[in-house]
Amino acid sequence: MKFTVLSLFPEILEAYFTSSIMAKAVEKGVVSYANINIRDFAADRHRTCDDAPYGGGAGMVLKPEPLAAALDSVGAGCLRTVCPTPSGRLFTQAYARELSAEREVVLICGRYEGIDQRVLDLYVNDEVSVGDYVLSSGEIAAMLVIDAVYRLLDGVITKESLEEESFCGGLLEYPQYTRPEVFRGLRVPDILLSGHHANIRQWRREQSILKTKKNRPELLGAADKI
Ligand code: SAM
Repeated sequence: MKFTVLSLFPEILEAYFTSSIMAKAVEKGVVSYANINIRDFAADRHRTCDDAPYGGGAGMVLKPEPLAAALDSVGAGCLRTVCPTPSGRLFTQAYARELSAEREVVLICGRYEGIDQRVLDLYVNDEVSVGDYVLSSGEIAAMLVIDAVYRLLDGVITKESLEEESFCGGLLEYPQYTRPEVFRGLRVPDILLSGHHANIRQWRREQSILKTKKNRPELLGAADKI
């Protein structure tokens, strides 16, 4: 799968694509990427990419011309194009799964007050919010989207890891423990040391329900139906 990211600070994304598990996915050929600097498509001498908003108000807005030229250069018109923005639909695991079926996804990183609406109208399929808060820029949001998507691709992490985690089956994941058996007076639950797989499965399911009830009770109704 290919991720094409348009940003004013491609070096932020470069560090991400060349580190840790993502770097391995790139090396294996499971993921490829293109980091495009929007500023390279600005026509004036100062490579200007922002301007004041029509109608007045605080801040600056990303100008349409450089961004549209950058999008044209990557053929965004024919590709699934995603714009992270706090005013988008909420990003979820189900949506990450949907994106993971694409061959290529283009992401636009906003800055300042955001992007000229006409670019959204002309190029963007999905406006997605990574949560009900406002970040200072789109790079972190784009990395968040990419990260949730690429780990679902075959060959990145094991299938078993994906099957047992939060939101799979509608519940949050059960608590995890590793060695030592006792840490600062707290013991690992006996059941996990029993070797009895059916009982462990049952305990984990119960713990998942308890945790979901405590932290995200609104998920429980949906989980009952799965
Ligand atoms: N004026 C915008 C508003 O009130 O909706 C906020 C702009 S924000 C300061 C700058 C950029 O950060 C946005 O264009 C977007 O790319 C990114 N961003 C901020 N919060 C985000 C969120 N919750 N989800 C996705 N992207 C976000």
